[in-house]
Amino acid sequence: MSDRIFLSPPFVGELERHLVSRAFDSNYIAPCGPQVDEFERRLAALARRRYAVAVSSGTAALDLLMDFYGVDASWTVFAPTLTFMATVGPAFHRGARLEFVDSTPAGNIDCDLLDSALAQCATAKRLIVSVDLYGRCADYARLEAIALKHQAVFISDSAEAVGATSPQGPAGIAGRAAVYSFNGNKIVTTSGGGAVLTDDPDLAAAVKSRSQQAREPVLWYEHKRVGYNYRLSNLLAAVGLAQLDRLPAILEKRAATARCYRETGLDFLPPVEGENHWLNVMLCRDEAERDRMIAAFEKADIEVRPVWKPLHLQPVFAGLKTHGGKVAEDLFARGLCLPSGTGLDRSDLNHIAAIVMQAKSSTARK
Ligand SMILES: *Cc1c(COP(=O)(O)O)cnc(C)c1O
Repeated sequence: MSDRIFLSPPFVGELERHLVSRAFDSNYIAPCGPQVDEFERRLAALARRRYAVAVSSGTAALDLLMDFYGVDASWTVFAPTLTFMATVGPAFHRGARLEFVDSTPAGNIDCDLLDSALAQCATAKRLIVSVDLYGRCADYARLEAIALKHQAVFISDSAEAVGATSPQGPAGIAGRAAVYSFNGNKIVTTSGGGAVLTDDPDLAAAVKSRSQQAREPVLWYEHKRVGYNYRLSNLLAAVGLAQLDRLPAILEKRAATARCYRETGLDFLPPVEGENHWLNVMLCRDEAERDRMIAAFEKADIEVRPVWKPLHLQPVFAGLKTHGGKVAEDLFARGLCLPSGTGLDRSDLNHIAAIVMQAKSSTARK
């Protein structure tokens, strides 16, 4: 094992091993089985939704939602520019027109800008994909109101926010449907996995069916539509069950880490009530200081990463319509994600803080 400190490595142990071996022994080594069913029940309860459908990734969950709404070139999809590519990848592949919206200085989508972007939109079919950036819930109440006002479909990419809460309830409660991710670096992992959360029985049934090739319920393979193979493996659902058992402890540990970081007096993204502290984002004075920090961490074998590069700066999206963008650009230039994993201990944190302080003082001398 290397001593490298990673950004957010999986935090698993005997509990996961035990539940996986139990699932293995039951021979449900398939994308169905009692563990998937139980995982879905627990996810629905966690998000306070009627239904959860467990799938192979957060991206697959978003793709199934795009499929459900029939997103194609006649749709305009609005998303924050400050997010991971996967938020808009499925809409992009279906030919939708993408429009990016700037953030507020706290990181999530700027709802005033979104409102005016929708007011200018000429197409009738509009979809909003909001993001709970770094496990900090977006303004769900405002987003719901904007969606209603402009007759847009609103879905919530809560991939990073499992376990976070908002004034409206848990992450995953917002929109016609929401999405979780259980990728290896997320706060809860199944090594790879995701879920769709919704209260809509038709949406839940359609997504579940289409995640399993959209087969009709008869003995032979009968198809009225073409589906996908996106269902979560039962073995991975067993990992997920163990992770959900751990979730309260994970959240507590992450919050303690965030408190330690804040005690240093450094500048971070402003705190948001109920955040799950997936990643702690330090704000440097400028891009040059950020780059010096990155070099200092690299030398110490510690993984850090700039915040998501805004989508409107991505070469593949050059020229696409963007509403504002300067706030996200500034966060990208100055923001640095620090190691935030559940397994970090006090001495790791002291080590990290010392590196930051040293890099700061060497910047000050320049
Ligand atoms: C991780 C992530 C996804 C994609 O989830 P996967 O499970 O990796 O496919 C989507 N959106 C955001 C904001 C994410 O951080």
